[in-house]
Order: sequence, then C-alpha cells, then structure tokens
Amino acid sequence: MPNKGGGQGLLPVAEARARILAGLSPRQAETCHLAESMGRVLASDVAARLSLPVEPVSAMDGYAARVADCGSVGTTLTRIGESAAGRPWTGTLGAGQAVRIFTGAVIPDGADCIILQEDVDASAEEDGASVIIREVPREGRFIRPAGLDVTAGDIILAAGTVMSARLIALATSAGHTHVSLWPRPHVGVLSTGDELVIPGETPGRGQIISSNATYLSAFVRACGGVPVNLGIARDRPGAMLEQVRSAPLPLDLIVTTGGASVGVHDHVVDDLSSSGTELGFWKIAMRPGKPLIHGQIDGIPLLGLPGNPVSSAVCANIFLRPAIARLSGGSYEPELVTARLGCDLPENDRRQDYLRSTLAVDADGNMAVEPARKQDSSMIGIYAHANALIVRPPFDPPKSAGDAVMVMRLDPLL
Ligand code: AMP
Ligand code: MG
Repeated sequence: MPNKGGGQGLLPVAEARARILAGLSPRQAETCHLAESMGRVLASDVAARLSLPVEPVSAMDGYAARVADCGSVGTTLTRIGESAAGRPWTGTLGAGQAVRIFTGAVIPDGADCIILQEDVDASAEEDGASVIIREVPREGRFIRPAGLDVTAGDIILAAGTVMSARLIALATSAGHTHVSLWPRPHVGVLSTGDELVIPGETPGRGQIISSNATYLSAFVRACGGVPVNLGIARDRPGAMLEQVRSAPLPLDLIVTTGGASVGVHDHVVDDLSSSGTELGFWKIAMRPGKPLIHGQIDGIPLLGLPGNPVSSAVCANIFLRPAIARLSGGSYEPELVTARLGCDLPENDRRQDYLRSTLAVDADGNMAVEPARKQDSSMIGIYAHANALIVRPPFDPPKSAGDAVMVMRLDPLL
C-alpha cells in the first residue's frame, strides 16, 4: 500500500518527466500513404527516387540556342521547332538554329542557352521563321540543370523528421507515394469523480461537467495521438480498473484526472496498487499540479493527472505532451523565452511555479509578460485566455516589475 499521507520530499519536475519518458517507446513502424503522414514522425530515412529536375529545363519563355551562334546583337537564327511543358522537342539543335521554348520545357539536345522572348525580334510564331537577337545570351543562363534541386539517391528526409505539408510535397516530387511512419499512439482518457456529468447533461446540485476529458481528448489529438474515451470512473475502489479494461482499442498510454490526492474518495492510487502495479511517485514540486501518479495497468503506462482543470492542463503540457511525442517516435521540449515582468512577485517556495500569463510585445519591441491576478487551479476561464506560463524555479528570489523572467508559450492549440 503506497503512503498517501506524504512526508517524503517533492520530486523535481525534470526528474518526474525523465522517469515518465523512460518507460515509453513507439509501437512498430508502418508504411503509410503520404496523405496520412501529416504531423507524424518518419521511422526511416527517405532517399530521392528521382532527381529534380529529372532533365535540364528552361526557367523562362524564349528560345533555346547555342551560345556559339549568338556572338552579336542582330544575329539571325532559324526557328526549327517548339519545346513546351509536357511536349519536348526531340531533335538535335544545329548551327544557326533556335527552338521556341516555354518555362518548364525540356532543353533540346545541342542547346546551351536561353534567349528571353523579350530579347528577340521574331518574325512569326512558326517554324522556318527568323529570330533576330537583341541581347547576347550567356551559356547556361535560364537553364535549370538536371539535379539542380535534388539528386536521385540523396537522403531528402531523415528518420525522426516530423512530416509537414512542404515535406510531403518534397517526397512526392522525388517519386514517393508511401513512407515508413511511427503509428499515432492510442491514449485512453479517463475521468474520475462522483460529481462529474458528461458534457451536454445539466449538472444537478453538487455536480460539475467533466471538462477535463474534453480538454485532454482535444490535447491528445492536437499532439498527434488518437484519444480513446474511457468515460468516467466513479469514486469507488476498482471502478477505474473496470473502465480501463473495457477500452475499445489497445492503448499505449492511459491518462486519468482526479482521484489522485489523499482523500478517502480518491481511489486511483489504491486501484493501481491492487492491479499489481508499482507506483512511481505522486508528489511533484510544482504548482499547479502537486499530486501526479505514474504507474501501469496491465503493462500499459499510466499518467494520473490532478483533477483541477488548470492543474490537469498544465501537467498535460509539462508531462503528457512529451510523453505523446515519445510514443509517436519524436520528442518535445518546451521552448522557454525571457520576457520583462509586468509586476512585482514575492519569493517562490519549494515548488516550481507555472503562472498563467499574457505575453505580448511592448511599445519598445520587447517581450513583456503579465501574470493573471488570480492563479487558482480551478479557474479554467483564466487558463483558457492565457497565452503563456511564467516558469519560476523553486526558491526563485523576489522579482520586481521590469525584471527578466522565463516564460513558456502556450501552444495556441493547447
Ligand atoms: P480530485 O483530485 O478528484 O479531488 O479533484 C479535484 C478537483 O477537480 C475537484 O474540484 C473536482 O471536482 C475537479 N475535477 C475532477 N475531475 C474533473 C473533470 N473531469 N472535469 C472538471 N473538473 C474535475
Ligand atoms: Mg475526485
């Protein structure tokens, strides 16, 4: 039976994070169509199947010719054909000849320059016509050589890359339709509490709408995972295990909210112990979000977040986001920036503080951050409109308005 009463030291945030991540790895990689790759992590390197461009092509509309024939303004060439995009001219260009050419069209054999169409007097747009040069061309100018952009065989995307629209475009251009990806992790989301009603129901006296599960499902999806709704476990021993064991999909991670404290109605810790699981820890040196559970049910890793909506949301940003990234084959490290504090702050205590704040650029072009006046961890209204968290390390000395502080931007989607 784990000790619920505390008394042991608080676990630093970084240590808790490292322990959570240590137990996580992605499922087996799978080959997927590029259309399904958005936001996912490549499991293998991708080599170009084709060079880009495959053949030398023209970068402009004009005439393909030989520099040797174009020594002076006024020289006349004879138009012998046309090379357009998708309709290459297949002959070989000889002395004194020019081929009408358009952007993206293949350069005819024998040609080594492009004369821009505005630099010639062309008697007519038909073969046999005279083309009089008004500007002497340079060799290779306006010709895109084969492999200018990408060379066949080169690694264009390294394993571990997160796929984006532009990387999908690159892989497609280089001849790929499918790539090897890490699967999206299935993350079970379970709420606990006798007071909870599902969204859409009108709460009676003493009841509240379960918003945590809605938040976490949206969060999991935004981080690239597949949320699996495990419903609400009521406050009785064993309820949580039953909900988890009736999951509709195999799970890679279970996230619970609430029931993680020391009260007689909090059963997550006991349920985990009764499922034969070892509890990693449950008190983190952070605010909001001190009670946090790390364990397993039937071999599936479990992260037990606090019940208060803001605590659960902040812990999701600090612990769940990197966990989903790890299960997805990638990694996530929050990016900290420094900003000028808009007010005084007292000395911090032994818990790392995450203050809900507004980050903006001030009149001088500097980043300025203003913490919300109220930091109660039940206040989703304030969290919802914050765009950053001031991160104060344990025992941070008092700060004055204008001092530099560390700030973690909140992802606009999270
Ligand atoms: P607990 O840790 O279970 O004592 O919950 C702490 C606080 O969070 C209580 O005020 C709960 O009502 C609230 N809470 C717990 N679960 C949820 C949820 N799913 N949605 C919104 N609030 C919740
Ligand atoms: Mg509860």
